[in-house]
Amino acid sequence: MQPPVDGPHMLLQRSAVFYRQKHLLAIEGLQPPEIGQLLDLADSYVLLNRSGKTQRDLLRGRTLINLFFEDSTRTRTSFELAGKRLGADVINMGVSSSSVNKGETLIDTAATLNAMHCDLLVVRHDQSGAPNLLAQIVDAAVINAGDGTHEHPTQALLDALTIKRRKGRIAGLIVAICGDIAHSRVARSNIHLLTTMGCQVRVVGPPTLIPAEVADLGVTVFHDMAAGLAGADVVMMLRLQRERMTRGQIPSAREYFRFYGLDQEKLAYAKPDAIVMHPGPMNRGVEIDSAVADDPVRSVIKEQVEMGVAVRMAVLDMLSRGNRRNEP
Ligand code: ASP
Repeated sequence: MQPPVDGPHMLLQRSAVFYRQKHLLAIEGLQPPEIGQLLDLADSYVLLNRSGKTQRDLLRGRTLINLFFEDSTRTRTSFELAGKRLGADVINMGVSSSSVNKGETLIDTAATLNAMHCDLLVVRHDQSGAPNLLAQIVDAAVINAGDGTHEHPTQALLDALTIKRRKGRIAGLIVAICGDIAHSRVARSNIHLLTTMGCQVRVVGPPTLIPAEVADLGVTVFHDMAAGLAGADVVMMLRLQRERMTRGQIPSAREYFRFYGLDQEKLAYAKPDAIVMHPGPMNRGVEIDSAVADDPVRSVIKEQVEMGVAVRMAVLDMLSRGNRRNEP
C-alpha cells in the first residue's frame, strides 16, 4: 500500500534529519530540533493511526526485540504494536522466559541477541544505565524503555506530544510534576524535555520524595500542592514507586492522599483549563482521585496511551532511517 502523500513517509523526505544518533537512551542532551522533529513525526503517525492505514513496508524484514527485565503493560504493548504497524518482526522477551533467570549476565544476553541479528532492541531494566551498557555491546539500535530511576525517554516524548496537541504549544507553559520525584524516571525525562523546550517546570511533593539535586535541573521545588499548582497549565501526577523505596518515605497512603493526592479541590488551584496527566499505572485514591482521573474534560490519561503508540512508531522510524543510512 502506498503511504499517504502527507504521511510520515514524506515528512522526513522533505526536510533535513536532525536526529542523527544511533540509539535513544535518554532525553538529557537532546537538542530542541531533535525533540521537535520526533514530535512532528509522531504527530503524523497519530493521523495515520486514526485513518486506519499502516505503513508496513517501512520496517519489513527488520527484527525488533522487546527485552523487558521489569514488568510493563503500556510500554511493551505499544512498542509491539508500533513495530507491527511498521511491518517489523517483533519478539517479546520477558525476564521470566529468558536465561537471565538462570544466571546469564547482561553481557552474555547481549551477545546472544547480537548473534540473532536484531535491528532494534527495546530494553527495560531495573538498573539505571543497563540500556547504555547494552548499546555498547550490541549492533542493534537500542531504545531505553525505562531504566531504574534514570530515564524513560519515550514516555517524556509521548507526554510532550499530548501537551502540544492539547495546548497548541509547549514553550511558555507551566507544568507541575507532582508526587514521587525521587524514584521516577518519568519525572527525570520530562524535566529534561520540558525545560529544553522552554516550559517552566515545578516539582511538587513531600521533602522525602524530592531529592535536593533536582533543583540543579532548572525546576522550582514546592512542598505544598496549593502553591505548586497555582496557575499551572499542566498537572502531571506520578505513582508512588514503593518497589524502589528503601525505607518508609511516606507515613501512610491515606495521609499522602490528603496532602498530595489530586482531587477536584486541589485541581482548582491550577488554571481552569489545566490538563491532568499520569503515566500509569495509577494508584487511585493514593496519588489521584478517580473523579479526576476519569474527568472527560481535564484528564488526558487515555490520550497519553494513544500518543504512546505514535511516538514509538516515530522513534522506530527515525532510528531505522539512521540504520539504513549506514547500509552499503
Ligand atoms: N510506567 C512508568 C514507568 O515505567 C511509571 C510508573 O511505573 O509509575 O516508569
